[in-house]
Amino acid sequence: MITIAQGDCTGCEVCISVCDERAITSQKEIGRLFIAIDHSKCNLCGKCQLLCPEQALKIDNVTDTPEGLVTLFECDLAQCDTCDHYFAPRPLIDKLQPIFSQRYPRALVSLHQCSACRSQSYDGIW
Ligand code: SF4
Ligand code: SF4
Repeated sequence: MITIAQGDCTGCEVCISVCDERAITSQKEIGRLFIAIDHSKCNLCGKCQLLCPEQALKIDNVTDTPEGLVTLFECDLAQCDTCDHYFAPRPLIDKLQPIFSQRYPRALVSLHQCSACRSQSYDGIW
């Protein structure tokens, strides 16, 4: 059975992109991100656990898994500072904020922008 530690996951969705079985999926509703698993599709290959950058996802040897889609994680989505579009998981932005502040302070504005507004800002610079 697969579980995700709510306090450690940033909602980066790496686990979704590496799962060949499409067992893990995400859904975005207004302002919220949900990550869910269908255990009947999971072959326990371990890729998602190995590649989760936060070591938030664990596979245990419980075989009596719940049927259907099971929500593993949910969080708020951050809104673009420029257009208010929901664009990224809030925990991911919160994790990147101190890194950008220290290493890339000039890029802090773009951290809080969706990709469309970010490219428009770059157009103005270049
Ligand atoms: S479980 Fe890991 S890989 Fe999946 S969304 Fe959370 S942090 Fe990312
Ligand atoms: S263990 Fe493998 S099949 Fe199961 S969810 Fe993770 S990547 Fe997908």
